[in-house]
Amino acid sequence: MNIAIASGKGGTGKTLFATNFQYVLHQQGFAATLVDCDAEEPNANIFFKGKLKHQKNTQLWVPVIDEKKCTYCGLCSDYCNYNALFILPERKTIKVLEDLCHGCGACLYACTDNAITEKSINIGQVCTYINSKGAILIEAKMKVGVHSPVQVIKEALKAIDSDKITIIDAPPGTSCPFVQSVGPADFVILITEPTPFGLSDLKQAVETLKIMDKNYGVVINRAGAGNRETYSYLEHEDIPLLMEIPFDKSIAARYAVGQMVAQYKSDWPQKLMNVFNTIKSLGNSSN
Ligand code: SF4
Ligand code: SF4
Repeated sequence: MNIAIASGKGGTGKTLFATNFQYVLHQQGFAATLVDCDAEEPNANIFFKGKLKHQKNTQLWVPVIDEKKCTYCGLCSDYCNYNALFILPERKTIKVLEDLCHGCGACLYACTDNAITEKSINIGQVCTYINSKGAILIEAKMKVGVHSPVQVIKEALKAIDSDKITIIDAPPGTSCPFVQSVGPADFVILITEPTPFGLSDLKQAVETLKIMDKNYGVVINRAGAGNRETYSYLEHEDIPLLMEIPFDKSIAARYAVGQMVAQYKSDWPQKLMNVFNTIKSLGNSSN
């Protein structure tokens, strides 16, 4: 079972939930791997406290143009959806903007003059950590200055073992990295907070998941700090409320120093297992 932890915006407590969820599942005897797909700023290992076991660079294949063969026809630029090819035919100038290239290979296919070959560039790493309890964390980390984390996320998700539970800590927002990360999920837990901003971003995430035909439920963090609009929305949309995390300074204090809250809050293990059991029962009822 693959469970993604996501949110429409950053700072809602996604990593707090993902790391504690994995911690409790592991403690209860489930082999649960955590995949940190927040590749622009992965931070799950601060809480996981794992030792690096393996590290692999992620390569992206980008085009190289042979200007001796190029006829400046512009076909490659027309095929490129990412504006990664700059061409001025009248000046006989063509450049690859590597920062914008997604390595899709469409330009190579488009060029009938054999003017394009490819080279690989390093865009990040996938690191595997193991902690003192034997749990595993896979971390996607993109290089500073790289435009898109999608390729690094794809590489990290290759580590998913279908015989185990995988917790995917998805990047915030609802753009390509979010879609890529929740793609393999059987269930998505959306973390939100009961504020107008939180609700607005939650709605966007829900609409995206509807298009992707995913099963999902919601965890409300900082419950009690905002208003009741999020609760009304969940009721109206018939979206399961899986858990509430109270607005509690002691939780923030533990999180701020990299501690696992479930180790200190005696009710957390049971609450997190209830979330897991609810997801399982929702999965069974939808089959
Ligand atoms: S398609 Fe090939 S020949 Fe045409 S502009 Fe691009 S690289 Fe040059
Ligand atoms: S590989 Fe794809 S994204 Fe990169 S320049 Fe070619 S068409 Fe554009």
